[in-house]
Amino acid sequence: MIISELKPFPEILGYLDGDKKVFIVGCKGCAQVCQTGDEPQVLEMKQKLEEEGKTITGYCVIDFLCDKALVKTRLFPHEDEIDAADSLLVMTCGIGVQATAAVVNKLVHPAANTINVGGASGEWRGSERCRECGDCVLDLTGGICPLTACTKWLINGPCGGTKNGKCEVEPDVRDCGWHLIYERLKKLGRLDKMQTMPIVKNYAKMQPPKHLRSTIMWALEQQETKV
Ligand code: SF4
Ligand code: SF4
Repeated sequence: MIISELKPFPEILGYLDGDKKVFIVGCKGCAQVCQTGDEPQVLEMKQKLEEEGKTITGYCVIDFLCDKALVKTRLFPHEDEIDAADSLLVMTCGIGVQATAAVVNKLVHPAANTINVGGASGEWRGSERCRECGDCVLDLTGGICPLTACTKWLINGPCGGTKNGKCEVEPDVRDCGWHLIYERLKKLGRLDKMQTMPIVKNYAKMQPPKHLRSTIMWALEQQETKV
């Protein structure tokens, strides 16, 4: 279970500054439980954005937005609506935003922050994709998470070790996360996003909120400790 909470509406509007037409993607998995990306929240967001003068070219609510193959299949019938949009607003956790970015050649904006519950998961396996930092920056990075794509968690550009697109830590097997971010933004014609850096992150938000600590695995761990 991945916990997400909607970003403040003014922050979302800020992401969409300059984008007149938007396609919205929601999630019926964890985001349904968190009430961040199910159909009612998607329709509410649609209405709020229309009141702000945006045109919503379409929307789609997918069972598990963290399942990249499923996202590709479900977005396929919406190809024309997505083509007509300037960007996509994705209402779910950071993994769902990245799965959408991986199958669509448009800029994606995260509508939610992913809250730390002490362990990442999601249906898009193969690599860690979200560290549940509570302050999602995917809007600036072309939908690729710098906290997982970069070996050193760098959030404001590459270290001096990147060479031929590879990470200095494991050059044989690992792409440089910041090279991937640069290439992605270049492909989208949005390298201007890199000019808005440095990203200032509030790492205090990486702490699991107290109510989650006391109700999920922390409670179980405490029980185990007592046995
Ligand atoms: S920036 Fe990365 S770690 Fe933070 S919520 Fe977004 S995807 Fe997750
Ligand atoms: S080479 Fe790239 S991925 Fe590796 S630590 Fe440096 S910036 Fe991060």
